[in-house]
Amino acid sequence: MGSDLGMETEQLRQYLEFYRDMGIRTLYRREASAADVGQAGPEGAPPEVGQALSPANPSGTDVGQALSPANPTAETLTQILADIGDCKRCRLHEGRNKLVFGVGNERAPLVFVGEGPGADEDAQGIPFVGRAGQLLTQMIEGTARKEGIALAREDVYICNVVKCRPPGNRTPEPDEMEICGQFLYRQILSIRPKALCALGGTAARALLGRGEGVTKMRGRWFQWKDIPVMVTYHPSYLLRPYNQDAKREAWEDLKKVLHFVYD
Ligand code: URA
Repeated sequence: MGSDLGMETEQLRQYLEFYRDMGIRTLYRREASAADVGQAGPEGAPPEVGQALSPANPSGTDVGQALSPANPTAETLTQILADIGDCKRCRLHEGRNKLVFGVGNERAPLVFVGEGPGADEDAQGIPFVGRAGQLLTQMIEGTARKEGIALAREDVYICNVVKCRPPGNRTPEPDEMEICGQFLYRQILSIRPKALCALGGTAARALLGRGEGVTKMRGRWFQWKDIPVMVTYHPSYLLRPYNQDAKREAWEDLKKVLHFVYD
């Protein structure tokens, strides 16, 4: 029997199970345009899907655009960005100038995940372009060069847990990370990198759901789905003048990731 969402109930059940297995428990619905309804996307992606999984919204009014469980990588970054749209799903949109989706190679074997945009990123719509970003770029390119790996910033993909700047650069709240996290997960599934590098405790917690501090987790491999995750310090932390040891450790962490991915 077809549902009023334009897909079979069984197919819908599979989508929802797929997201649940990914650890995504909140899906959001945007209004279906006439063009969406009953019409597959350019790569066979399903039409608009409905049904919130959020316990916060049991009435099911917030739903999202699903991707096929049979072929989750069919969703492109462009499609994910289109689904985000002029996002107002959480309070962070209120102070936003530009939404900061991600930058770099859509097929990158290595994805860096930060916490959330700062003032420079919010102004430009590009992640890691301020002081911390310049340090990250130096670390990626400098470490690669020293290790004999030909790699530029454009060769990797860089994004954040939340796509809008938290006011005063505060840490994103758990509900903001949960809401925006679905887009991060979908970005990762679309890119399918060989490894992820979590920059700082917030990214590590969002990806791994672990409560330990970054000092305990850094330098070690974890796993998100089947993708290895290296945790290291956030570049903003490394900018503090008294953090020479942390800087050295972060360089060691980066070497590990780069050799794992590019050797
Ligand atoms: N810090 C982050 O976590 N992300 C950015 O994009 C910039 C600074």
